[in-house]
Amino acid sequence: MASIEDSAKAEGKASAGLVGGSAGQIPAYRLVSRSARPVMTVVDIAGVKVGHTEIAVIAGPCSVESAEQILRIAREVKAAGATILRGGAFKPRTSPYDFQGLGEAGLEYLRAASDQTGLRVVTEVVDPRDVELVSGYADCLQIGARNMQNYPLLCEVGRVAKPVLLKRGISATYTEFLLAAEYVVAQGNEQVILCERGIRALSSELRFTLDLSAVPYLKEETHLPVIVDPSHGTGSARLVAAMSRAAIACGADGLIVETHYSPGDSISDATQTISTIEFARLVKELSAVAEAVGRRVPLGS
Ligand code: PEP
Ligand code: MN
Repeated sequence: MASIEDSAKAEGKASAGLVGGSAGQIPAYRLVSRSARPVMTVVDIAGVKVGHTEIAVIAGPCSVESAEQILRIAREVKAAGATILRGGAFKPRTSPYDFQGLGEAGLEYLRAASDQTGLRVVTEVVDPRDVELVSGYADCLQIGARNMQNYPLLCEVGRVAKPVLLKRGISATYTEFLLAAEYVVAQGNEQVILCERGIRALSSELRFTLDLSAVPYLKEETHLPVIVDPSHGTGSARLVAAMSRAAIACGADGLIVETHYSPGDSISDATQTISTIEFARLVKELSAVAEAVGRRVPLGS
């Protein structure tokens, strides 16, 4: 029978995600770990590469609100330098009484905006039963913070041929985050991007605390690309530019930024949404930071 001391030791190992003997321990997330695969993964979102020299710039509203709204935002963020459009059609809202998204109509509007601008599309899927539907419209499937440990959903996106943008749960450790990615990769889908989006910590003044230590930690621990969401990460539009610069400086492979031509009119997450004008200014500012760390940002068109 194992002693109390042995089980305490085993538990310690599990929380560090380690299995095997003390020498040459293999992380439990064996497929996503860099020790198993030292070559960094480049995720290909319909031709746009994430985890490459060029920083992935993803922008768009929290929610798709109408065909006109998403198309106008797509045009404006593209001109500023974004290469991928974001926008939620299925929204995981904290309150059941809040706007839940336009559903399939939202997916149609996103696809149309993408076809008209050439931007790739990332959008969230919240239900395993919708994975096939969302895959029919999106170039990349987002798994939100609330679903980081929804294992049936992780397995389902692991079985489709679409890249996955996996957001960190608000109280997930790095190891739990990596193990969530492992679920997707273990099903055969190796195209996974990790996204640090803020955790619940002590600063009650902010919606979340953006944990930028996650970036260098994860970049060392896994071969998967790591991006940052400064919008949910802070909950405050005023902090988005500074945290975006910091994210690139500490090695992030990309950013996902909530952007709207009229942030105050956003149906969801208005307080953390920046304007398309501010977004254009931000992308310009990011050039110098990216250059300082051997990266570059897209130029816009
Ligand atoms: C979102 O990106 O709109 C979103 C809901 O993010 P998160 O899952 O990080 O809260
Ligand atoms: Mn949002």
